[in-house]
Amino acid sequence: MSGNSTLNISFLGAAGEVTGSCYLVETPFVRFLVDCGMFQGGRQADTKNRKDFSFKPEQIDFLVLTHGHIDHGGLIPKLCKDGFRGPIYTTDATAELLSIMLRDSAHIHESGAERENRKRKNRDNQITPLYTLADAKKSLDQLVPQKYDERFSPHEGIKIRMREAGHILGSAILEIWITNQGQTQKIVFSGDLGQPGRPILRDPSYIQNTDYLVVESTYGDREHKELGPSLDELVEAIDNTILTGKGNIIIPAFAVGRTQELIYYLYSLTKKKRVQNLSVFLDSPMAQNVTKLTRRHIELFDKEAKELADWYEKHGNELTLKLTETVQESIAINTIRSGAIIISASGMCNAGRILHHLRHGLGNRDNTILIAGYQAYGTLGRRLVDGAESVRIFGDEIPVRANIITIGGFSAHADRKTILNWLGGFEAPPKQVFITHGEPKASSALESEINAHFHWKTIIPANGDRVALD
Ligand SMILES: [Zn+2]
Repeated sequence: MSGNSTLNISFLGAAGEVTGSCYLVETPFVRFLVDCGMFQGGRQADTKNRKDFSFKPEQIDFLVLTHGHIDHGGLIPKLCKDGFRGPIYTTDATAELLSIMLRDSAHIHESGAERENRKRKNRDNQITPLYTLADAKKSLDQLVPQKYDERFSPHEGIKIRMREAGHILGSAILEIWITNQGQTQKIVFSGDLGQPGRPILRDPSYIQNTDYLVVESTYGDREHKELGPSLDELVEAIDNTILTGKGNIIIPAFAVGRTQELIYYLYSLTKKKRVQNLSVFLDSPMAQNVTKLTRRHIELFDKEAKELADWYEKHGNELTLKLTETVQESIAINTIRSGAIIISASGMCNAGRILHHLRHGLGNRDNTILIAGYQAYGTLGRRLVDGAESVRIFGDEIPVRANIITIGGFSAHADRKTILNWLGGFEAPPKQVFITHGEPKASSALESEINAHFHWKTIIPANGDRVALD
């Protein structure tokens, strides 16, 4: 597929897969990107991330970012390093979140390169990090935060409005109007959509109309478990582990989103008197920063979260939440024999402070390890979910005697039903729908559903496709 008209869109990532989101929109008078995400997972991710961009970064006028996840914004420091000088538009909360995410990402790349180079020793064979902390900081200067729901014009002939996507704090659906010689065309990018009714965040906004739509399909072939039973399982795990007075609960959680949701649920269950006097340790510096950032953005909370925040003012001490800062404080948690709920990163147990807690906690049959997020193949978290009898941590073989419990109802992504419901909000059919951000199976499942329900014209673009839009 190739196009050459007054309006073209190229799919440069998240096509046939879920990571590396990047779309290039070109008109005769402006050229801009939507997202500039990192490829993650799989063997080729590093190669893809290091490859030169297929466009000239210095020729891009501006970038619009849907949300702060690394697979949507993680290549921004590289884009700027390679010559992009334009503004980066996103919501206030995403700009703040990105500042945490990109610094962390730069740190991972710097220390990864350092470790690799120590192994290589040969001076001619040394690798450089994908980008450095200095690159990341520099790119953050290009951020120009915008308010939700207010139109702004980044360039003559272009208007943009960001709407609530309900996926993570600050996440946005983009409405983009492009006017060329008196003719206006509209493109909507769904970004990543959230599940309605999830904690803290508002539900995704419905959009009434568009000419072209780019929609995500991560869970286009699946429906999530209900939240209610998952909360029951959480209460049961607390009763069985904490009330016995014998064990601790260890929860590996993603620093962004999942950690804040779990804390929200623990407060909410306390408010409902389903649990009491919990002693919770949040042991992840990045998760602490994101939690503080979330608390500052109470204006983005949904009604229930605002009510819970009011309750917290008077009753916050009914739950003890300790943010451990130093490594010493983190180590000290391991001397607590029972009654603690320890939330720590990483979410898939592949690095970070969680490893120390697992090393101390896995061998005790009175403890519970609560898995509340997706565990990719090849990670320690996945081995635990798959029932390993022992696992290797820091060179030691640790027997798995603790209870491993998986709770499946907490997902940050819209499932099939939710995506279809959101699509039902359009009052007229778009001229064309591009289905992206999904494994091939998920994208084609969503395509069949869209065809069956709406009879819209759909395309699942392949990576690198450039499509003319008129
Ligand atoms: Zn996301």
